[in-house]
Amino acid sequence: MKTYRIATIPGDGIGKEVVPAGQKVLEALASAGNTFRFEFENFDWSGDYYREHGVMMPDDGLNALRDKDAILFGSAGDPDIPDHITLWGLRLKICQGFDQYANVRPTRILPGIDAPLKRCGSADLNWVIVRENSEGEYSGVGGRVHQGHPIEAATDVSMMTRVGAERILRFAFKLAQSRPRKLLTVVTKSNAQRHAMVMWDQIAAEVARDFPDVTWDKELVDAMTARMVNKPATLDTIVATNLHADILSDLAAALAGSLGIAPTGNIDPERRYPSMFEPIHGSAFDIMGQGLANPVGTFWSVMMLLEHLGEAAAAARVMRAIERVTADPALHTRDLGGSATTAEVTRAVCDFIAADR
Ligand code: ATP
Ligand code: MG
Repeated sequence: MKTYRIATIPGDGIGKEVVPAGQKVLEALASAGNTFRFEFENFDWSGDYYREHGVMMPDDGLNALRDKDAILFGSAGDPDIPDHITLWGLRLKICQGFDQYANVRPTRILPGIDAPLKRCGSADLNWVIVRENSEGEYSGVGGRVHQGHPIEAATDVSMMTRVGAERILRFAFKLAQSRPRKLLTVVTKSNAQRHAMVMWDQIAAEVARDFPDVTWDKELVDAMTARMVNKPATLDTIVATNLHADILSDLAAALAGSLGIAPTGNIDPERRYPSMFEPIHGSAFDIMGQGLANPVGTFWSVMMLLEHLGEAAAAARVMRAIERVTADPALHTRDLGGSATTAEVTRAVCDFIAADR
C-alpha cells in the first residue's frame, strides 16, 4: 500500500478549523479505498507561534517539509500582527522556498450555489486561472528613500525574467492542452506596461508554437474583467502575471459564489519540492471558533492535492461528495445562507465518500 506523507499547517483563525476537517476527508478516503494511506505531520506555525518565538516558522522549517508529498495549508493572518509578517514569514516563505511558481485556481459554479454570475443569466463557467507566483509585480524589488522629507519616493519594480515568464506560460499551455476545450487566454497589459509585458507577449507566441493544438488569444487585463462577467463561456484556461491574476482570481471566486468555496494550489510543476494546497479565504477571525467556517474550499483543495499526487479516482470521489453537499441547502454554512456547521458539512462529505463505492 502506498503511503503519502502530508504536512498540515492550519495557521491562524478558521485555518485551525478547516485544515483538521480536510485531514478527516483524506482519512475517510484512505479507509474507503484501501490503496493508499496518509502519514500526517502537523505544524503549529502561526500568529500564536510568532508571539512565542518572534517568527512565524522556525528558520529551518522548510527542511521539515522538504520530504513531504504535499502540504495542506489553512491561512496566515492575525489582527494583531502586520500582514507583511504573517504573509512573508510563512506562506510566501514556503511558496518561494519551494519555488512553487504556478498558482492554480479552478473556478466553477458548484450545484446549489447562488452565484452572482448566475443572477446575470450565465452559469456557464469552467475556468482555471494560472497565476505567476514567483516574480513580476510582487518580486520585492524596489525601495523607499527620503522618508519624512518632501522628496520622499518609493518604487516597486515589476521584474520579469525570461525564464520566469517562459516556465509559467509553458505550464499554462500544457494545462490548457490537457483540458477538453484546449483553450488558453493570455492576459497582458502590454499597451501600457511596455517592457515586461511586451516580452511576456513575445514569449507566449514562442511557446505557442510547441502547442499547435491549443487555441489561444490575448486579452488586456482591464478588458478581461468585463469579459469574465459578460462572456464567461469564451474562457477556459487563463494565465496572467502575479498581480493581474491575483485580482482576476478574486473576481472569479466572487462570480462563482462564496469566498469559502474557492481552492488553490501552489505548484512546483517540476516536482523538486512539495506543492501546497489551501483554501483562498483568509483567517476570518470574525467567525473563528464558532463552527461557522465553510470547509468546502479546503475540501476542494484536498481534491487538487489528490490530483497532484496522481490519485485521479480519489480526487473525483471527493469532488462528487463536495457537489452533493453544495447541492443540499440543508448542508450550507452561514456564508451560503444556511445554518449547517463545519462539523456537519465535514461529516456529510466523509459519509458520501464512504457510501460512494
Ligand atoms: P485575512 O486577513 O487572513 O485575509 P480576513 O479576516 O480578511 O482574513 P477573509 O478570509 O479574507 O478574512 O474573509 C473575509 C470574510 O469572509 C470573513 O470575515 C468571513 O466572514 C468570510 N469568510 C471567509 N472565509 C470563510 C469561510 N470559509 N466560511 C465562512 N465565511 C468565510
Ligand atoms: Mg482577507
